Amino acid sequence: AIDPQFNENREKVGEENGLSVWGPVDEPEQLGIRGTHVAVDYDLCIADGACLEDCPVDVFEWVDTPDHPESEKKAEPTHEAQCIDCMLCVDVCPVDAIDVDAS
Ligand code: SF4
Repeated sequence: AIDPQFNENREKVGEENGLSVWGPVDEPEQLGIRGTHVAVDYDLCIADGACLEDCPVDVFEWVDTPDHPESEKKAEPTHEAQCIDCMLCVDVCPVDAIDVDAS
């Protein structure tokens, strides 16, 4: 599962599409965590898609991640600022790749 303390335990190594990237990153095999309020561990994400289907405010968008060992696309929390903290995505993710910090 995603480490809910990722922002303390990992280094912010950059930004992509306006989202923080939390390392380590070693592309294409290791992609780190994307986002902060809504955070997705790309190294766990298997592109199940339940979060995209269920998010009531369409926070997520697919991004292509060719040659990643778990999946060739990831659910990016592109619009994390729109999140209403319903926690649906956290509940439906089959691999617990999402953390929403509602505090
Ligand atoms: Fe969308 Fe709810 Fe997840 Fe926020 S907590 S990203 S609103 S599903």
